[in-house]
Amino acid sequence: APILVWLRRDLRLSDQAALAAASAKGPVIPVYVLDDETPEHRAMGAASRWWLHYSLASLDAALRGKGSRLILRRGRCEEILPELAREVGAREVHALHHYEPWWRGAEKTVGRKLRLCLYHGNYLLPPGTVTTGSGAPYKIYTPFWRALLERMPPPEPRCAPQTIAAPPAWPKSDRLEDWRLLPTAPDWAGGLRAMWEPGEEGAGERLRDFAEQASGYESRRNLPGVVGTSLLSPHLHFGEVTPAQVWHAASSAGGSVGIFLGELGWRDYAQNVILQFPDYGGRPARETFDRFPWRSGGPAREDLRAWKRGMTGYPIVDAGMRQLWHTGWMHNRVRMIAASFLIKHLLIDWREGERWFWDTLVDADYASNAVNWQWTAGSGVDSSMFARIMAPLSQSEKFDASAYIREWLPELAELPEGEIHDPAPMLRPAGYLAKIIDHRQARERALAAWEQAKG
Ligand code: FAD
Repeated sequence: APILVWLRRDLRLSDQAALAAASAKGPVIPVYVLDDETPEHRAMGAASRWWLHYSLASLDAALRGKGSRLILRRGRCEEILPELAREVGAREVHALHHYEPWWRGAEKTVGRKLRLCLYHGNYLLPPGTVTTGSGAPYKIYTPFWRALLERMPPPEPRCAPQTIAAPPAWPKSDRLEDWRLLPTAPDWAGGLRAMWEPGEEGAGERLRDFAEQASGYESRRNLPGVVGTSLLSPHLHFGEVTPAQVWHAASSAGGSVGIFLGELGWRDYAQNVILQFPDYGGRPARETFDRFPWRSGGPAREDLRAWKRGMTGYPIVDAGMRQLWHTGWMHNRVRMIAASFLIKHLLIDWREGERWFWDTLVDADYASNAVNWQWTAGSGVDSSMFARIMAPLSQSEKFDASAYIREWLPELAELPEGEIHDPAPMLRPAGYLAKIIDHRQARERALAAWEQAKG
């Protein structure tokens, strides 16, 4: 009987334990189910759908090169998989573990209907297995990372199977084009096409490029104006490359890469938080935030709109928000500044920002997004630093964002160096609006709100 390989955020052939195990046993039917119907599933955002389209096309092409192909089905995965199994006479499903709460639910249901064999491989270590001496999960990153590091390096990644045996007959598949994952009118994806090559091959190229300069990561990673980070986040999110592959490639390049590996650790850490607190993406972990006086009326809605469009009058924030809109990605330092600005300067609930990032990031990831938003808000399990308010203008200078601002805000491109971070009203070009709130005023308002929330 053929074996189903259920693919989700693990769209690759190499270092794919489920595919390796299934193809060692007999004929395999790789299947991807697009589930927009189960209410518990958080539907993918628009930028993620764009990515998914190309990643699935690339995976299908790679599978065909091995004598196989990708079957596409749409609907409730908990019904589609048993149906497909019946259709082709399969009794087993192989898949990698996923930790988003909706995937854990789906795995339980599918496991009741079919023999479901789950494997690890999307994280450095299986989430939930890095624990304190007494077996409790960590809540804070640093001790988590120290404990994880003791069990590193990860095993050598394995190669893709040589061939993948086909079943006697292929079941029907949807046509990828019919899923309409790509935008039509307006087509906002030009900047995404220019920057990214979704799929395992694109991920491999990105990794090879980065590995050569990985030793410069520590000195460049905070500078938004240079390409100083790996740009691997969407590839890692969709599982086109594994953290083990990234670890080995970066380490073998020589030089000091500890700080970079620590970022992979944050990715594992975020997933561990989600495993402990499944609703982290929608609920603050600290009670104080249940009664936080967020602004939410008409003017706040206007402010939220200005933030989304990159029209706050703070060049570093606006440049970041426009980079996000055009490319589906934003530099980490600027994500921190823009997120802090929404929460503290505008006093808007972090969940609004989390949702916007979810819709617009090509690397939108339930765990990493929620953990970073809650960390910035100070509502998370790992920090309570609401009162630490980032000053966007001095951050912009400190991390030398001038070239970055000129790139993303062409209306400011001609400003002299001394004016670019905070243009004086007289020099401000006509098309660029004044700051929507003064920094000192915003700071005082935020601190007052914090005092009120603390009671
Ligand atoms: P590099 O610096 O090259 O890091 C290598 C890899 O480590 C990244 O690809 C990523 O997988 C992981 N990583 C790095 N920083 C973090 C971090 N702080 N938390 C978790 N993993 C990390 N990252 C996402 O992948 N998805 C998200 O939805 C997401 N939302 C964020 C929201 C906010 C408000 C903030 C402040 C950060 C968010 N991040 C998110 C983390 C980080 O900004 C991105 O992972 C990083 O910018 C991706 O670029 P890179 O691949 O060049 O990273």
